[in-house]
Amino acid sequence: MRVAITGAAGFLGSHLVDRFLAEGCEVVGVDNFITGAPTNLAHLEGHPRFRLVDHDISRPLYLGTKLDGVLHFASPASPVDYLELPIQTLKVGSLGTHNTLGLARKHRARYLLASTSEVYGDPLVHPQPESYWGNVNPVGPRGVYDEAKRFAEAMTMAYHRAHGLDTRIVRIFNTYGTRMRPGDGRVVSNFIVQGLRGEAMTLYGDGSQTRSFCFVEDTVDGIFRLYHSGCIDPVNVGNPDEFTIRELAGLVMKETGSSAGPEFLPLPVDDPAVRRPDIGMARRTLGWSPVTDLREGLRRTVAYFRRLVEEEDVRPRTLGGT
Ligand code: NAD
Ligand code: UDP
Repeated sequence: MRVAITGAAGFLGSHLVDRFLAEGCEVVGVDNFITGAPTNLAHLEGHPRFRLVDHDISRPLYLGTKLDGVLHFASPASPVDYLELPIQTLKVGSLGTHNTLGLARKHRARYLLASTSEVYGDPLVHPQPESYWGNVNPVGPRGVYDEAKRFAEAMTMAYHRAHGLDTRIVRIFNTYGTRMRPGDGRVVSNFIVQGLRGEAMTLYGDGSQTRSFCFVEDTVDGIFRLYHSGCIDPVNVGNPDEFTIRELAGLVMKETGSSAGPEFLPLPVDDPAVRRPDIGMARRTLGWSPVTDLREGLRRTVAYFRRLVEEEDVRPRTLGGT
């Protein structure tokens, strides 16, 4: 089996490449390194079943070799990134999705779209089941990411209905772990880097907003199972254990041994107040649920970042807020 994975040099994409290779597949990685880095794939140099194509997937891609699967993971994903790259984010979610669907159709390959919990916006239903249509501000700053993913889901279903393409849609909730960029700007990497540097953790708003954090190995396992399932409808993949951002800061302080107090910064526009997946569908149809709790996942992630902080002058990246 040969699959193409876009966003292969990113955080999730690189772990997914490893998983497909470990299962014996050939993998063609596609990336333009806008938010990812070839170093995430450095361990695969010379691997006989892996190759990396440097390409912006918002432009069409023609691959000569036969593909059995296409997994579209390319997109800026950290709010700091997509707010800095609004047009690229809209393009990769719309044109990039169209191009990868076209690639899958040409090869009669299975297609999997990386969607997101952000399709639920600032949710009015809690926890969020797949049947919830969401509460998204299309013209707010986060709309560039949320609406691109909502369009991508609609386009994927249209290819399924109109062309009979064999499609899957995964709605991924906040995932963290090794290979996140130290300057990625998401909360887990920011707090860990700040903790390890003995700096104040930057809490946006009063830190009472919630997220539900899933360790990368669990997320990748859920995605892999979905890919091999027969499930056409979108499926939530995430960890239902919900924490306030203030609680997260406390846990990261413990794991990093930091005693610096918090620094409060303005809450970003349209920052969801709560987020927690209903994973009933994943449990029933994929036999999947996460196995790594937040403390254990943080321990492993902190160990990864500790090495980076010791080796280089790595910095967190914060959002000013408006
Ligand atoms: P990431 O920024 O680490 O990786 C994204 C990768 O896509 C990068 O390597 C980047 O260079 C590449 N890319 C972006 N635009 C591209 C383009 N036009 N052409 C080719 N490559 C391009 O982010 P991530 O956390 O690994 O997210 C991967 C996917 O999973 C994204 O689609 C994201 O929306 C989705 N997702 C992630 C999370 C999460 O918690 N990590 C949650 C929900 C959804
Ligand atoms: N956040 C924070 N400090 C930071 C980065 C993020 O308090 O340095 C908050 C942010 O406002 C949000 C939550 O942490 O409520 C998760 O943010 P992240 O950027 O990781 O992803 P999101 O879930 O918002 O896409």
